[in-house]
Amino acid sequence: MTLGAYIQIPFCQAKCTYCNFHTGVVSRDRYQPYAEAVCREIAASSSGGAPVVDTVYVGGGTPSLLDPAALQQILGALRGAYRLESEEITLEADPETVTPAKASAWLRAGFDRISLGAQSFHDSELRAAGRRHRREDIFAAVDLLRTAGFRNISLDLIAGLPHQTRQSWEESVSQLLRIYPEHVSIYMLEIDEGSRLGREALEGGERYSAGALPSDDAMAEFYESGCARLAAGYQHYEISNWALPGRRSRHNLKYWRREPYLGFGAGAHSFDGGTRWANVHDPARYVRLLEQGASAHEQFEPVTPWQAFQEEFFLGLRQLEGIDLARIERDYAAELSDRIAAVHQRVAYLQSQGLVEIDGTRLRLAPDRLAVSNEALVELLG
Ligand code: SF4
Repeated sequence: MTLGAYIQIPFCQAKCTYCNFHTGVVSRDRYQPYAEAVCREIAASSSGGAPVVDTVYVGGGTPSLLDPAALQQILGALRGAYRLESEEITLEADPETVTPAKASAWLRAGFDRISLGAQSFHDSELRAAGRRHRREDIFAAVDLLRTAGFRNISLDLIAGLPHQTRQSWEESVSQLLRIYPEHVSIYMLEIDEGSRLGREALEGGERYSAGALPSDDAMAEFYESGCARLAAGYQHYEISNWALPGRRSRHNLKYWRREPYLGFGAGAHSFDGGTRWANVHDPARYVRLLEQGASAHEQFEPVTPWQAFQEEFFLGLRQLEGIDLARIERDYAAELSDRIAAVHQRVAYLQSQGLVEIDGTRLRLAPDRLAVSNEALVELLG
């Protein structure tokens, strides 16, 4: 089976208020040593036989901050250690970091897909969220990327940002449709302890515009309206993702289908089909370990049959085409027959509640209840 490769670049220009990722703002002097450490990790990871890598995703963080030569060096390291039979090589970029020179250099390096973090087309929402770019930067970035020759662009929006209203949300979706990118992601804002905004909101405070957060119901409405409007032209293939025909994210599909992938960089995760592992989170420690010739791996976790079974549902059901229950039953019958029987009962209950649908042996989330998909997933495996 082919592999996906994920490269984590954990640096940003500023920390967004809602961000719950392990990313930080550091001096630019630290970018190149980090890129070299990633190259070392890639070179050391190949155990011979040159396995095939057919999707690459360079994410973060804001990887577009790096010198294009450093990104080229990283792709070069992948080509040196693996057979890179590219189906898709994605770079995440923030709109304000795109320049004509960078866009051309990215294309020359081998990137053929750009995932652009637009998030909103309203400056008041972008400002409150701590984003560096403004609405005009999004249009300018897309123009630059198109002029350079990119024919596969993904745009992200966030439903639930502070100050977002039904009207401002509809306007953001309209502007996105004006651009008509090949791929769209809509994420619902997560309120948790991992971000400044999340902590403030949970404590009932007002900082970071926490008092201007839309309600959960409003956020669900924004999402559902986005689903309805994107249905004209886009295929909704995963809870948060839409694509024009032939433009689904091949790399991300590997995650939902539990296919193997290797992660490189601080905090990156890997999965070989039987074990999951993660790298140390701290970028400085990551660089030190690689410079010493040591491994940055930690948290090795063999996936038990029960965990794998749960992942089949939690990950697989994110895809709107659903999962093949007959195949799952076959694969897990020997070890988990009692669990399978319990899931059958819960599926019948969720079907009676209209939360899931069964078509032959395929189980899928009901398309009109995706905004409450977590409820269905928790009930299913609870
Ligand atoms: S750009 Fe992305 S990774 Fe960086 S701080 Fe903002 S949300 Fe987090």
